[in-house]
Amino acid sequence: MVKSLIAGFTDFKKDFFGNDKSFYENLAKRGQKPKTIIISCSDSRVDPAILFGARPGDLFVVRNVANLVPPYQPDENYHGISAAIEFGVRDLGVREIVVLGHAFCGGIKALCSHTFGDDKSDREFITSWIKIAMPIMNKFNIKSSEEYDVHQVEKDSIVNSMKNLRTFPWLRSLEVSNELIIHGWWFDMEHGALWAYNEDSNTFSKLVDN
Ligand SMILES: [Zn+2]
Repeated sequence: MVKSLIAGFTDFKKDFFGNDKSFYENLAKRGQKPKTIIISCSDSRVDPAILFGARPGDLFVVRNVANLVPPYQPDENYHGISAAIEFGVRDLGVREIVVLGHAFCGGIKALCSHTFGDDKSDREFITSWIKIAMPIMNKFNIKSSEEYDVHQVEKDSIVNSMKNLRTFPWLRSLEVSNELIIHGWWFDMEHGALWAYNEDSNTFSKLVDN
């Protein structure tokens, strides 16, 4: 596997350092000025740069299990996701955020399992992490994890993360003054479609058809 990574880097070098050395020279000298923050899952099948055809410097990507955003909680604990969002919005000045969920998300499946006490008991971190999305489970009146429409939970979790983004006061004030936009997208990897959340109708509809 490492061999293929090295081969991949050789290709990357050819593409971005080969003919036009100024591309990375500019990025190095001027620093990064990404246009969009993408909050996506760590899932190996959901790589934002590949999905959106982005080039180095385009996207500020924050990845974690189940693309969750924790609520604003300024204390002495280690808030890696909040720190990344803070850096992207306040230091880099990014004004567009996409929360990107996806089909067949293992983290969301774990959330459904946890709701019914089916989770793997020896996991030390995943359960407490996915509990960020626990509020969305309360609306379901279902007795077994098998009965869940997991795709619906994946979409609801995106909306929950958008809601949590708005608990960050400096982010919310930018949004209120129309200086920042938050999007919620769901990647249907089975059919190759991209869905977007519509705030007015509180529904997801296809942004790019399969
Ligand atoms: Zn996932």
